[in-house]
Amino acid sequence: MTSNQSENLYDIAIIGGGPVGSALALALKNSKLKVCVIEARQADLPSADARALALSCGSRLLLERLGVWHQMQDVSAIRTIHISQKQSFGRAVLRATEMKVPELGYVLPYPVLQDALTNALKKSTVTTIYGANVTQLAGESEYAVIAYQQNDVEHTLHARLAVVSDGGKLLVQQFPPSYHDYGQSALITHVTCAAPRADTAFERFTPQGPVALLPYKDGYEIVWTAPHERAAEMLGWNDAQFLSELHQHFGDRVGEFLTVGTRTCYPLGLKKAPDQSPMPHTVLLGNAAQTMHPVAGQGFNLGLRDAWDLAQVILDSQLEALGTEEMLTSYCSRRRLDREAGIRFTDSLVRLFSNDLPVVGAARAATLTALDCLPFAKRFVAKRMMFGANG
Ligand SMILES: Cc1cc2nc3c(=O)[nH]c(=O)nc-3n(C[C@H](O)[C@H](O)[C@H](O)COP(=O)(O)OP(=O)(O)OC[C@H]3O[C@@H](n4cnc5c(N)ncnc54)[C@H](O)[C@@H]3O)c2cc1C
Repeated sequence: MTSNQSENLYDIAIIGGGPVGSALALALKNSKLKVCVIEARQADLPSADARALALSCGSRLLLERLGVWHQMQDVSAIRTIHISQKQSFGRAVLRATEMKVPELGYVLPYPVLQDALTNALKKSTVTTIYGANVTQLAGESEYAVIAYQQNDVEHTLHARLAVVSDGGKLLVQQFPPSYHDYGQSALITHVTCAAPRADTAFERFTPQGPVALLPYKDGYEIVWTAPHERAAEMLGWNDAQFLSELHQHFGDRVGEFLTVGTRTCYPLGLKKAPDQSPMPHTVLLGNAAQTMHPVAGQGFNLGLRDAWDLAQVILDSQLEALGTEEMLTSYCSRRRLDREAGIRFTDSLVRLFSNDLPVVGAARAATLTALDCLPFAKRFVAKRMMFGANG
């Protein structure tokens, strides 16, 4: 390695400073390791991502440890979750008091989370390289070699461990993930209504896909899933038609819908990398490792646990062991149970609750009734949603 190359040698290079990559960098901020984050977004350009995220109690605890939770002003609490299905009986209600926790979860816009993490990174010793698009990654015997473009100039750096947290684009051609298209898109927007129920989130399953209302400020963040063509049609409705169709689709639990914000659509599928460490000195994290349907609000929550566990494995490793096969195998096996359980839980919910076969409808109703009546079943589901399978 030349002296120029060793200047550009990092212990950990994180490709993608989204919420998961940034969380990993923050978890390493007090170590002596040389860490960098390479992010395509320009510095100081706020994220324009429109989605709202439901965060679990477990995520709150991790964000507190990272020192960012109390920096976020605009967070709403969820204390009750109401689950039902359209055109059928059976419903379940989960309450924070029954679970003996102050809140079941929280709602906040993606940019609020992203800004808090980015601001915390600015105050740390982590090197941040913004406006930098990683174009190539190669795992060699001793290091990973990363090529990126910034202001039309090509740069290269080496890392003992390259963490790919880019949401799942860079390595997709080279190492294609398994993919299941649910045939659905999620339309997201903010609505206000006549009778909002404070701190209550609603998950309503319908044959065309689930619709979720997450309490936020004066109304609800909506995640309305529908077949791709229908979702494209819904984007084109005027506000009055949208509000009336939503009322018809969701029912009368929060009264009439009054106003609607900007609408955005995301196609939904289950993407899973078969190997979280597809080449030497490289590991996939967050959405780059698994992208899930948002029905159970698991994607970021799982990605944050990925980041936290990877940080612990890194901090427990000797410098020379960073990025070795042994270290990466240890990380992957530590994450296996939680990752598989999160994917299975979300995928089963979508499959069980998004079709209109009569037999399945009866099974769904029975499942919801059992969930509502059996305290241990409620505790199991609530604990899984709050803390994951390792919780
Ligand atoms: C509609 C919807 C609703 C959702 N709701 C929830 C929810 O309620 N709860 C929940 O837990 N999860 C939810 N999710 C999932 C959640 O949004 C993701 O799991 C989370 O954003 C993943 O974070 P990430 O950092 O892994 O990836 P991303 O958020 O995709 O961030 C990737 C980052 O990498 C950067 N990047 C990409 N390519 C490059 C490159 N080549 N070079 C440099 N940088 C690059 C990007 O600019 C970006 O900043 C939802 C998802 C959708 C679509």
